[in-house]
Amino acid sequence: MKPELVVATKNKKKLGEIKEILSDLGLRIVSLVDYSRTPRIIENGKTFKENAIKKAVRIAHFTKKLTLGEDSGLCVDALDGAPGIYSSRFSGKEKDDSKNNLKVLKLLEGLPLNKRRAYYVCAVALADKNGLVGVAEGRCSGIIGFEPKGNSGFGYDPLFVIPKYKKTFAELGERVKHKMSHRFRALSRSRKMLFEYLGR
Ligand code: IMP
Repeated sequence: MKPELVVATKNKKKLGEIKEILSDLGLRIVSLVDYSRTPRIIENGKTFKENAIKKAVRIAHFTKKLTLGEDSGLCVDALDGAPGIYSSRFSGKEKDDSKNNLKVLKLLEGLPLNKRRAYYVCAVALADKNGLVGVAEGRCSGIIGFEPKGNSGFGYDPLFVIPKYKKTFAELGERVKHKMSHRFRALSRSRKMLFEYLGR
């Protein structure tokens, strides 16, 4: 039987990316969508890592299974790192990607390309019923474009331009994104932890 990994998220796009990036590990990956009445997690950590740990430990305690908690977001240099850990709810509680993108564009209005530097951060924590197993973080640098472009990905991807390609993640699509994204990098760093845990 394949070992099971619970991903502590209900975000289908995020889950899809994690499944794709870990697809070669032969795990049965499930998420909070597969459970009913999961505990509510209040994301009140001060860092991505703190929030990822909270998600992993809380859900592992509930499921009694190896669990991956993920917290991620966009940090814009000209906005002193905002939206940061507040990325999903930057424009309000309803977590609206288009409104979040418009808010970032508005705040950067008039700034030239060289003042639009940003990076994505992804923190990944692994936990089991006994507590935290380990944490890893990955980053990916880019530039905030002047208008949304492309349909792939989610969140701020239509704004996030990869300088090497002069295209947004939403234009570049999954194949490129999953080889260089913050999520790819954090999960690559988690592989050793996962292998050790699974005794491989
Ligand atoms: P979380 O679910 O609290 O970790 O919030 C993550 C939020 O950060 C998402 O709702 C997006 O706004 C943003 N974000 C994180 N990763 C990505 C990505 O890969 N592409 C675009 N936006 C992302």
